[in-house]
Amino acid sequence: MEGIDELIKAGEIARQVKEEVVELIKPGVKLYDIAEFVERRIVELGGKPAFPCNLSLNENAAHYTPYKGDETVLNEGDYLKVDLGVHVDGYIADTALTFRVGLEEDELMEASREALENAIATVRAGVQIKEIGRVIEDTIRGKGFNPIVNLSGHKIERYKLHAGISIPNVYRAADNYELKEGDVIAIEPFATTGAGQVIEVPPTLIFMHVKDRPVRNAHARRLLMHIKHHYNGLPFAYRWLQDFMPEMQLKFALAQLEKTGAIYGYPVLREIRGGMVSQFEHTVIVEKDGAFVTT
Ligand code: MN
Ligand code: MN
Repeated sequence: MEGIDELIKAGEIARQVKEEVVELIKPGVKLYDIAEFVERRIVELGGKPAFPCNLSLNENAAHYTPYKGDETVLNEGDYLKVDLGVHVDGYIADTALTFRVGLEEDELMEASREALENAIATVRAGVQIKEIGRVIEDTIRGKGFNPIVNLSGHKIERYKLHAGISIPNVYRAADNYELKEGDVIAIEPFATTGAGQVIEVPPTLIFMHVKDRPVRNAHARRLLMHIKHHYNGLPFAYRWLQDFMPEMQLKFALAQLEKTGAIYGYPVLREIRGGMVSQFEHTVIVEKDGAFVTT
């Protein structure tokens, strides 16, 4: 299979960084320091971040990543989702886990962890993705929580974090895509004490280049060149650009690029009723008779 060595290496780096990050999860630690640690270790181990390290707290399900100057710290009892991505030559490992700061794993975390385990156990070539959705939904509801229906896993291709197919967290009859041997998929069940839906809220700290558009403004044009050259269609953080341009210029340039459709912004995703959220995620390769878990 093309890229298999790179996929395995990316997965090993991701696993190693997940093991190391545990040490930092303590009350009083800044999210900024955790994100910088994760991304620095990815590079030191021979990979590159496939997207900014997402550090989403409590009712925020995804897409928070700290900025330079961010004073947010961990507090005891916080549900922290650490979602990290590694790529080696464009071959991506995407994985996430949840911590309850200073406390043991609880049932909410167990619900998403077990949903992920059960989902992986159903993966093999020929299975329709609605069966994965069914297993995730049944596991989470069986533990008395709600799956988040408008978040999903995704098929992954080289330099494509979301390659068209979504891997659902609930059963829907129409989800009849059949897994093929060699498909790379991220499975990521989210369990919540809330209603089971996320909404977009400010701030937007993660962006992605989506298409080439003519850009008039010189700062915006310079920023777009930089983005295309460095991130190759993968998501990037506001934080990564804070040394590239002064803040006012950067904010203006990002807004311009978003307006023309050259880049897309990903606001924070918050549970609609403010419920607590837990998430676990692995990237797996579909095999004839099962799944190879890379992360
Ligand atoms: Mn992820
Ligand atoms: Mn993912």
